[in-house]
Amino acid sequence: MQRKGETMRYLTYHSGQEKRLGVLVEGYIVDLAQMVGFGDLLELIVAGPETWKAVAAKVKGLELAEIAAKIPFEEALIATPIARPPKNMICLGRNYYKHYLEGAIARGEVEHPPEAPIYFTKPHTSLIGAYDAIGADPEVTTRLDWEAELGVIIGVGGRKIKPEQALEHVFGYTVINDVSARDLQSRHQQWFKGKSLDASCPVGPVVVTPEELPDPLHLDVSLKVNGELKQRGNTRQMMFDVATIIADLSLSITLEPGDIISTGTPEGVGQFRQPPEFLKPGDVMETEIELIGVLRNRIVTVE
Ligand code: MG
Repeated sequence: MQRKGETMRYLTYHSGQEKRLGVLVEGYIVDLAQMVGFGDLLELIVAGPETWKAVAAKVKGLELAEIAAKIPFEEALIATPIARPPKNMICLGRNYYKHYLEGAIARGEVEHPPEAPIYFTKPHTSLIGAYDAIGADPEVTTRLDWEAELGVIIGVGGRKIKPEQALEHVFGYTVINDVSARDLQSRHQQWFKGKSLDASCPVGPVVVTPEELPDPLHLDVSLKVNGELKQRGNTRQMMFDVATIIADLSLSITLEPGDIISTGTPEGVGQFRQPPEFLKPGDVMETEIELIGVLRNRIVTVE
């Protein structure tokens, strides 16, 4: 078996009442708690780059046939990679020009793209696994919408990080759907509440380390609802790229290992479609980022 130079694909999965740290090897999840002593992705990230290298070397030297603690990926229940990041997930608004523009047209604004990144955050109580159902409570929202986004997991913390060194601070990348209740965004005139619903934000299924991802990132981002393509873009279209975001944020906010940044969404969200479209119970969203993976989430009614 040869995996030298390959990116590592870390994930968190349910095992009985526990959540465990695994790594994906040839379609199998290999449990890392016994092998390297880390049962939690955040713990591993905090341990630092030397430890990540040692873990990667150990995993790459594995013979899959000799590993007892492995389960097929399809049979596992995948959890969100980091249940409680050190701070709220940090998100960017209007970071793709065409998404900015579709909103500006709908609002009847004169074209004036943001000159600095727009930030908001989501609490950990909104985070769910890659294939979890998303509950829609009709008492809370009737305008639930999608936003496919690249997620960045900080590996090495810092402040005043220079743009040219920023990508060295990344542990890995993941897929995020910044599910948003548009009626709450309008009613409260702020994004936090409408984008922070309990158990609404799928993250995962894996965190991919950057070794073999293109640099700068050129990754296709797409979202389908019930198999129909709604969003298609590429991370190269970000107005503020990953390095710029890390440098800008860290100028005034100390970034910590395990912090998650969601980098904004391309055009094609439901609220700006003609006519507008919102998610309803039974709908299935598939959110994909090239070379990373796919989230698959069904909308269900909850009270
Ligand atoms: Mg968003």
